[in-house]
Amino acid sequence: MDFAKNLDQIISRIEKARLAYSRHHIVQLIAVSKYASAKQIADLYACGQRAFGENKIQDLQAKSEHLADLPLEWHMLGSLQSNKINKMLALKPFLLHSLHSLALAQEIQARSPYKLKALLQVNVSLEESKSGVRPERTLETYQQIKQTCPLIELQGIMVIGPQTEDTRQIERAFQSAKDIFDKLPQASILSMGMSGDFEIAISYGANMVRIGQALFKEPN
Ligand SMILES: *Cc1c(COP(=O)(O)O)cnc(C)c1O
Repeated sequence: MDFAKNLDQIISRIEKARLAYSRHHIVQLIAVSKYASAKQIADLYACGQRAFGENKIQDLQAKSEHLADLPLEWHMLGSLQSNKINKMLALKPFLLHSLHSLALAQEIQARSPYKLKALLQVNVSLEESKSGVRPERTLETYQQIKQTCPLIELQGIMVIGPQTEDTRQIERAFQSAKDIFDKLPQASILSMGMSGDFEIAISYGANMVRIGQALFKEPN
């Protein structure tokens, strides 16, 4: 498995999509390591990748502890149950992408000993199975969190595109995310785009993409 080659390919695809959007646009790549071992993460780090994402607290813990000697930037992506908040806080993730409600924000606020950077997850695909605030409630929830949770530093939003081959449906979801993002006060991060749809996401203004399979899995 040639990670260096995968990484090079992904970086050039991001670069192409970024330039098509705007020469001034910057996109950060989060390597989603949920399919990868600690050894594979270390190999990708040796190729120059520094930001990694996990969606389960126990994996984040195991891998970040195993790789504690490397200056990695860990992103927490998965939905967080309230009984895992303390564990998550102990791991001090660089950015929590999956803050999905005011209630969760307030629980974190009550327990956190430090300021935590986070993104509000918005359910733009309106799929029942996905968590996140509804698009029409986003601005209100975003402001409520800013007002009532001083220990949470909201930096923007995270969305997961709809699970479909229908490009138009994906575009509609990403357009709606971009419209919401543009209305939020002081939001700088639009975390949107995965292996199957990151180029579309960038064409709608994503500036952080979360890519797993395309980096770590062998093509079928
Ligand atoms: C797994 C996951 C990703 C990466 O998905 P791929 O299809 O493997 O690129 C991105 N974001 C979240 C929240 C995930 O759980």
